Amino acid sequence: MRSRGVILTTSALGGVPVLAFLILAATGAAAWGPALTAAALTLLAAFCIALLWARDLELLSETVRHAVAAIPTSPPTGTPVLPPMDRLMRDIERVARHIAERSVLVERLQRADEAIVEQLPDPLIVLGADRSIRRTNAAARTAFGADINAVLRNPGLRAAIDRALASPGVAGPHTAALTLPVPVLRDVHAMVIPMDPPLSDGGQAVVLLSDRTRERALERMRADFVANASHELRTPLASMIGFIDTLLGPAADDPPAQRRFLGIMAEQGARMNRLIDDLLSLSRIELVEHQAPSQAIDLGPLLTNSAASFEPKLAERSVTLELKLHPELKPVVGDADQLSQVAQNLIDNAIKYGREGGTVTVQAAPVPAGTRFPSRPGMLLTVTDQGAGIAREHLPRLTERFYRVDKGRSRNVGGTGLGLAIVKHIVNRHRGQLRIDSEAGVGTTISIWLPQAP
Ligand code: ADP
Repeated sequence: MRSRGVILTTSALGGVPVLAFLILAATGAAAWGPALTAAALTLLAAFCIALLWARDLELLSETVRHAVAAIPTSPPTGTPVLPPMDRLMRDIERVARHIAERSVLVERLQRADEAIVEQLPDPLIVLGADRSIRRTNAAARTAFGADINAVLRNPGLRAAIDRALASPGVAGPHTAALTLPVPVLRDVHAMVIPMDPPLSDGGQAVVLLSDRTRERALERMRADFVANASHELRTPLASMIGFIDTLLGPAADDPPAQRRFLGIMAEQGARMNRLIDDLLSLSRIELVEHQAPSQAIDLGPLLTNSAASFEPKLAERSVTLELKLHPELKPVVGDADQLSQVAQNLIDNAIKYGREGGTVTVQAAPVPAGTRFPSRPGMLLTVTDQGAGIAREHLPRLTERFYRVDKGRSRNVGGTGLGLAIVKHIVNRHRGQLRIDSEAGVGTTISIWLPQAP
């Protein structure tokens, strides 16, 4: 190929002058000897130029190939001999360097894109035009594993994908609210984004799934809480309205009945008051739950004061309160008012649900070794009673709002069903831990681990 090029160039360059020399010699205008010598020299010069030209062009095309392949290292060596070729070569080399830099940049951006998609906290699935999975990120693989195809078959999601693929020019997004039964039941918000032009891996649609199970559960909990709170307030209110009607009607002229009814009404009013106090405490604690307290609190004086405030109640139920403070008790990180409330609620429950004539033991000590509490330095507050205990199946639900083992008993002893919920939220705010141990016929121990102040 190269020799053909050289011959053609040689003939193009030397053909006309050689022909002219031959015509001059043939017509006698020049002697054959000098004419043939001039023709031979012309052909030789044309051949040399053709050779240089071919070599330079080869060098140039190699440089262009190198630029197209976008290889950032080892460009071809050598310089063209002909000056215009040399300039062209420099220009091609500049373009080649530019292309190589751009391709390094594109590769880096592509790697960054892939890393972002892979690290996204929400599951992401890239689909081709035939709905085949082109790519999934780590969150999608963790959330759905082998069930990913079953997820894509969900009718709501399929409809959104169909809409997105049918109108690639329309940015969308196409959304769907799904309830996925696999691998565990969850509420998911799906967003399908059509890709026009398609992604480099052929992806035509990106499916982004965000798990809304927690939000939905919270919404339901909130609605349940409002319903429960209203119900708890409505019961004493209905009873008071009933007594008011009786006082205005049948009991209008019956002073002994009036006294009895007013006593019950006062009790119901006090119950509503307690309930509202507990509801307000709960919402106040929830407001600051994300901010851990920072004071250093001595549990000794705090527990001594709390215990003292129960003297009338202890006498009423003939209960003895034993306060055991460990000599090596250290201050904890806490909020004094909230920790008093924890102690009050636990001692109150131990007296209410403990044995009449029994003992309630309140202890505070450094955490003994070998317990299941955190290994960081901390103090343990325990309140133990000798009551009938709590059946195992109730234990996990005791800290739910308004959850009571025995509704009637709780009401009779003036309970609101919020005491342990308040304790749990305070312990959460203190980054502590709560444990309830109970044995039927022996009693209940509630333990609270609190971090030691530095
Ligand atoms: P309440 O105001 O009804 O006492 P709490 O939230 O303080 O509400 O407690 C929830 C339920 O847990 C109580 O109704 C009771 O059934 C049970 N409970 C709490 N503490 C004890 C305990 N020391 N012994 C037995 N049962 C308890």
